[in-house]
Amino acid sequence: MSAPAVVAPPPFTYHRPALLADALELMALDGAVALAGATDLVTMRAHGALAPNHVVDVKAIPALRAIEHYADGTVAIGAAASLERVAVECRTTLPAVADGALLVGAPQTRARGTVGGNVCRASPAGDTLSALLALGARARLASAAGGERVVALDAFFTGPGRSVRAPDELLTRLELPPQLGGSAYARFTYRRAMDLAVAGVAARVTLGGDGRCATATVAIGAVGPTPALVPAAAAALVGTACEADDVRAVCEEVVRAASPIDDVRGTRRHRLRVLVPLARGVVETALARARARAGEVTA
Ligand SMILES: Cc1cc2nc3c(=O)[nH]c(=O)nc-3n(C[C@H](O)[C@H](O)[C@H](O)COP(=O)(O)OP(=O)(O)OC[C@H]3O[C@@H](n4cnc5c(N)ncnc54)[C@H](O)[C@@H]3O)c2cc1C
Repeated sequence: MSAPAVVAPPPFTYHRPALLADALELMALDGAVALAGATDLVTMRAHGALAPNHVVDVKAIPALRAIEHYADGTVAIGAAASLERVAVECRTTLPAVADGALLVGAPQTRARGTVGGNVCRASPAGDTLSALLALGARARLASAAGGERVVALDAFFTGPGRSVRAPDELLTRLELPPQLGGSAYARFTYRRAMDLAVAGVAARVTLGGDGRCATATVAIGAVGPTPALVPAAAAALVGTACEADDVRAVCEEVVRAASPIDDVRGTRRHRLRVLVPLARGVVETALARARARAGEVTA
């Protein structure tokens, strides 16, 4: 029996516009896709998941590479900002997002790969996604035909690899509200590096003057068709003194909200089991960061 023929993906035209307006015009062409770091796009094309006629490289557009910290505490991350820069420049302002960015692949992957690519790939296991959700990110999208629109990230993902982004739309930036308190993201993997999340959890907490939890958000990744907020887990923490029993209640809600499948990276049963210590560790780290920050503010 002869080996199956290897079929080369069809050719495409490569564009590298320097202006957003030009990029949007190019995205309106038939079969156009955006290219940022190409760390996902190359494999997607090789596996036949994408067969673009036009590839629009967005990395030469300065506004899409910018990371801006505003005086009121809001942060705007350009879609083409590298994960490496996000890990460094957002370490203090958006700790959970920096945690996620720092876990992606190897230094080479993070130097090329972008936060916008991670979001638009929409993998349930994407390492920045649950952190961005927990921190209340909004996605700014633009197209030549429709202009601009802003979508809350918890309404962005619609399934594995799918989102509300239209084919001709570019993600231009992610916008985050001012962050008080502390946040964290962690994932379970079998290896310490170069592995994809078997399960991921992000949490954000703020503390009142009495040390009790004032507000919280919790999000999960890789344990359902999309990364998702878990309001019940957050509600289990709000108003409590954040004792061990309170954190245990958060973990129970996280497990209840998860709907993992059996796949090559883990069984449903195993994923549900690892979620408990994972969620506990993430909430404890977010609390420790919130307490350290409260100490800095009062000192
Ligand atoms: C060796 C290796 C290890 C990896 N490890 C991890 C890991 O640990 N965790 C993890 O989460 N991911 C991992 N990945 C996947 C990948 O690196 C990330 O998803 C990365 O963030 C993708 O960004 P990119 O800029 O390379 O996207 P690209 O590959 O350029 O694009 C990805 C998709 O998004 C679209 N897109 C990109 N930018 C835009 C935009 N601005 N507007 C509209 N559409 C856009 C593209 O058309 C494409 O469909 C790994 C990949 C490799 C090769």
